[in-house]
Amino acid sequence: MSKIIIYKENLINNLKIITEHVKKRDKVAVVLKDNAYGHGLKEVATICAEFGIKRAVVRVAREAKEIAHLFEETLVLGGSESYPDKNISFTVNSFEEIKRTPQNSSIHLKVDTGMHRNGIDPCELKQALESIVSSKIELKGVFTHNKEGDELSSALFWQQKNFSTIKSKVCEFCDAKGIKRPLFHSLSSSGAFRTNEIDDDFVRIGIAMYGYLEWDEVFGDIGLRPVMELRANKVASRSLKKGARIGYGGTFRADRDMVVTSYDIGYGDGFFRANEWIKASIEDGREILGRVSMDYLSLEGDDDEVVLFRDAKRFAKQFRTISYDATTKLSPSITREVR
Ligand SMILES: *Cc1c(COP(=O)(O)O)cnc(C)c1O
Repeated sequence: MSKIIIYKENLINNLKIITEHVKKRDKVAVVLKDNAYGHGLKEVATICAEFGIKRAVVRVAREAKEIAHLFEETLVLGGSESYPDKNISFTVNSFEEIKRTPQNSSIHLKVDTGMHRNGIDPCELKQALESIVSSKIELKGVFTHNKEGDELSSALFWQQKNFSTIKSKVCEFCDAKGIKRPLFHSLSSSGAFRTNEIDDDFVRIGIAMYGYLEWDEVFGDIGLRPVMELRANKVASRSLKKGARIGYGGTFRADRDMVVTSYDIGYGDGFFRANEWIKASIEDGREILGRVSMDYLSLEGDDDEVVLFRDAKRFAKQFRTISYDATTKLSPSITREVR
């Protein structure tokens, strides 16, 4: 069967680089949403907790329940469901969500500093804080998200400036009410690595932990190593004569006699669909022959096992997309093996 190898040593290497950069282990929240970007929620959460990470971020409550016992706090990013829980906090993006949140729940209020995707408008901050206090929900955090952490633009810096104004207003409000100041957080991987003195309480790190930053030209090689390796196994080999065509539509034609093998992975497993328009090669440079089908793909040669990718960023580029996309799409039903 196809499988995903998770290299523990590489994950720890990346966690070390990240914690050294932000200077403190408890300033790192690990982002484990969407099955830990396809790496395996429990597998990655366990290694992070062993390493000493105290905080995790997920997308939905179901994910939080699986791992909350490993961390001091798990923050759920996606709204909708929320309830009181001593280890789990929920994101609040709007007034409607504040209204819907049951009493005694812990929340992090998201503020829109320029991405214009989620979060309340900064001019409604005071009103939102009043509403939180009167609804008897606990304000554990206030945060924002950057839209251009990995672009060479000033957006990161003006968003940070907006956030610092928000911080002062929140602190002023809390001090006046005599309530505890919340934790502040705003930076994801790229923003964190573009900032040397991080004055937030913690950063939310996803992709860097898995071994990537999307824009090398900005960051240079900082020593991150890919955590995931995707492999597949042989189903059947055959010898083909020059001129034979392979797979649906027969879009690949052998230009010489060749040995061809099918492997047990396809777009049904979340693997990208290479085809006659999008040519792609696996880790060792061999081209995927013809169209990827739902459960199979074909390669020249007859190895029992092949590595499809270790460098997800290189692999993803062939499909004009990013490392996040290549790893996150991989089906949770593929076996994850930690080494
Ligand atoms: C996904 C996500 C992150 C992590 O981003 P990376 O670029 O993977 O580090 C951080 N914060 C929020 C709100 C996110 O949605």
